[in-house]
Amino acid sequence: MKYTATIIRILFLTLFLFLLVNGKVMLWLALFGVSLIAAIIFGRIYCGYICPMNTLMLPAEWLSKKLKLQTQSSPKWLKNGYFTWITLIVSAIAMLASKKLLHVNLPIMPFWILAAVLITLRYKPEVFHNLICPFSCLQRTLGRFSLLSHRVNEADCIGCKICEKVCPSKAIAVFNKKASVTESLCHQCTNCRQACPKNAIHYTKKRIEASSSTIDA
Ligand code: SF4
Ligand code: SF4
Repeated sequence: MKYTATIIRILFLTLFLFLLVNGKVMLWLALFGVSLIAAIIFGRIYCGYICPMNTLMLPAEWLSKKLKLQTQSSPKWLKNGYFTWITLIVSAIAMLASKKLLHVNLPIMPFWILAAVLITLRYKPEVFHNLICPFSCLQRTLGRFSLLSHRVNEADCIGCKICEKVCPSKAIAVFNKKASVTESLCHQCTNCRQACPKNAIHYTKKRIEASSSTIDA
């Protein structure tokens, strides 16, 4: 699954670069729109597999750890979570204004890709994913209704917290020795499922016991 996910991410990154070079980045934004609808069924798969920012954040995080640049803290002023809405609104206004007044398409996606990489060289990926990314507030809003998502079968969980350590978006946390996934934050990346020593995490439907309704994604 790990290699399949990497190949899927590289293919979408290649598609994004192709559209960018050919001045068709609006098609990418249309794909993002479709992914919002898909999030209601499949969860935030755009964030986990399609987003070029996420794909480039993975090597940035690796480099950050290697060079010991990563800090565990995050800026306090970001913590209320509203900043993602501000970045979305400012980005949308900047794009519309530059098109209307200057007749140019503002390179908003390359700007955010650069920002995502630079921020991830210093902070854990969850800081950009959950507190800064202009696209995450929309994905989070619809992702919370996802029919399918990674979920924990509490009966199998021993509360070891291994899943917490591998989650890029702080979507899984252990309380009272039982892990639980916040679906609105989950990118469906499978990291936790692959790391769990008790096979307690499954990609499964809401309100159905994980042990009786699982999908191998
Ligand atoms: S890794 Fe598995 S067993 Fe450990 S806390 Fe997470 S869900 Fe529970
Ligand atoms: S590690 Fe698990 S909880 Fe975290 S984003 Fe990936 S699938 Fe979701």
